[in-house]
Amino acid sequence: MTPFEIIVVPALSDNYIYIAHDTSNKTTLVVDPSEAAPVLNALKTRGWTLTHILNTHHHGDHIGGNKELIDKFNPTLIGPLSEESRIPNMHKMVKEGDKINVGGHEGLVFETPGHTHGHIAVWFKDSDALFCGDTLFALGCGRVFEGTMEQMWDSLKKLRSLPISTKIYCGHEYTLSNAKFAQDIDPKNAALQKRIRKFEAMRADGLPTIPTLLADELGTNPFLRADDASFAEGLGLNTKDPVAIFTETRSRKDNF
Ligand code: ZN
Ligand code: FE
Repeated sequence: MTPFEIIVVPALSDNYIYIAHDTSNKTTLVVDPSEAAPVLNALKTRGWTLTHILNTHHHGDHIGGNKELIDKFNPTLIGPLSEESRIPNMHKMVKEGDKINVGGHEGLVFETPGHTHGHIAVWFKDSDALFCGDTLFALGCGRVFEGTMEQMWDSLKKLRSLPISTKIYCGHEYTLSNAKFAQDIDPKNAALQKRIRKFEAMRADGLPTIPTLLADELGTNPFLRADDASFAEGLGLNTKDPVAIFTETRSRKDNF
């Protein structure tokens, strides 16, 4: 299959909605439509008709546009089985290891609890694309609202094990604020500093920093490095336990 063409649509104050399109069979998937208007605009400009919606989790800034888009296009709504009671109108409910078919493109489903109980991420191998909602961000990770720190760390480890060529399509433009924290907790990381300068230039030009490459996140995102001795050393903790180190990192960010 030819890869999806993926459009980044800014919405609300700092959300991203993604539209993945296959021109050969006119498949159009929207991921986490926080609101309908920017999606309708983007579709109209390109003459595309919505065929599928994917929701990563139940938060309003990820599902708020569902109803209007469903009323207009009657697409297939795909979301986490475990959020059946919190995401209305789902047609296809999925769980860990499921494979979804979106216009011939296979998406592999990961359950990534932590930010919310029923959070999922979906990886489209043929497009090197991971839609991960509020689990993994560029230089950051989602706040742990519903799950445990251990669950969140396990979720991030699943995503971390994907091919390094994977592009990370996350739910928010939080990159520069994540960068400030990453720089603070990991001040001697040259690769991190290089990325931050690149991101600052992109934002100054009004460009989204998303997607980022998993290859670049691995050595610079503090939330992917709780089991990396060189990162742990810098924290000055008296432990090598990755869950303790992740917990400390997440708590420091919450209070940063
Ligand atoms: Zn959220
Ligand atoms: Fe969100």
